[in-house]
Amino acid sequence: MHRAQQIADNLARVRERIAAAARRSGRTSEAITLVAVTKTHGPEIVRLAQAAGITDCGENRVQEAEPKIAALRDLPLRWHLIGHLQRNKARRAVALFDMLHSVDSLRLAQTLDRLVAEQSAPRRLPVLLQINVSGEASKEGFALPGGLDNRQALPAFYATLAQIITLPHLELRGLMTIAPYSDDPETTRPVFRALRLLRDDLARRFPQAAWDQLSMGMTNDFEVAIEEGATIVRIGRALFGERIT
Ligand SMILES: *Cc1c(COP(=O)(O)O)cnc(C)c1O
Repeated sequence: MHRAQQIADNLARVRERIAAAARRSGRTSEAITLVAVTKTHGPEIVRLAQAAGITDCGENRVQEAEPKIAALRDLPLRWHLIGHLQRNKARRAVALFDMLHSVDSLRLAQTLDRLVAEQSAPRRLPVLLQINVSGEASKEGFALPGGLDNRQALPAFYATLAQIITLPHLELRGLMTIAPYSDDPETTRPVFRALRLLRDDLARRFPQAAWDQLSMGMTNDFEVAIEEGATIVRIGRALFGERIT
């Protein structure tokens, strides 16, 4: 099948599944932003996705995203950084992306705040805090295994957050997590639920931020994530097929 048709068909199927999961959570698909994860795919594939209706793209590495975004400047796409960000790449990330999902330390947040302040056009950069709620050692993010049940780690996390929330050039919108890989999405439901409960708690404690976004759910588990309250799903393989690299 032609690649453009294939992507359009995949997108239609993913949108149907998003809409059905949204209904099960008492919402409509308008409440869910689909971020097409375009890592490993070239600009020509992104063009096909955009022509099929994609408005938001996700990349996990600044290095790979930089030339891709440059090659696609003519398209009205919003770009999301979904992978770990090293501070020495923060300047480029601030220039490239519309939202950062992977803020995972106070130092990184402070660096980003300073870099946004230095930009010629004043703006606030939308960010999410990445939280490791599953406790998997391989995962980046603020380490908060168990979420709200983690009485040990919570006080330090609240203290860090109290500082991040005062940074004037960042617009804190919510939380992001990556669930452990599993072929059975039900096993990841508690991870998504823990992130939502944490967000609800933070929204009560820190009402100065919007807390309206929960970035959770990928090809394997996005329906369960939506049932648990995801507002952003990050989907690669269900749209573009298996990654070869
Ligand atoms: C690669 C990636 C995705 C997309 O994963 P798929 O299984 O292809 O849907 C989502 N989020 C992050 C952080 C990723 O690195």
